[in-house]
Amino acid sequence: MTEPVLTLHGFFQRARAGQLTGVRCGKCGGLAIPPKEFCPDCHARAWQPVPLGGDGTIVSFTVIRVAPRAHAADAPYAVAVVKLKEGVSLLGRIVDIPLDKVAVGLPVRFRPLVKGDQTSVGFGPA
Ligand SMILES: [Zn+2]
Repeated sequence: MTEPVLTLHGFFQRARAGQLTGVRCGKCGGLAIPPKEFCPDCHARAWQPVPLGGDGTIVSFTVIRVAPRAHAADAPYAVAVVKLKEGVSLLGRIVDIPLDKVAVGLPVRFRPLVKGDQTSVGFGPA
């Protein structure tokens, strides 16, 4: 028996528990996060879940000053693309880092953002 392919739901359940999980393609070895239906590189569907450390650095970011209504009370906040040590990049919200300290190259660490039954990807100080 092989482990079932990690679903997006499973991804967020693990994230909620503090574990960031990617998927590795069994055909070409490409790593993806969050999980996708097919490998963007070779179009295979042969994923294996891979636990990720959650450490990375900011490669780009945007400060959201006018937020969607659900997040309006939180604005301004930063959303960043973070390149993890494992080599994959992931979009997440920056938390507990002052906006004027958010910079490309800044080390950050994954943390789950839990609001009710919603879980999203966040990054805090490394
Ligand atoms: Zn592949």
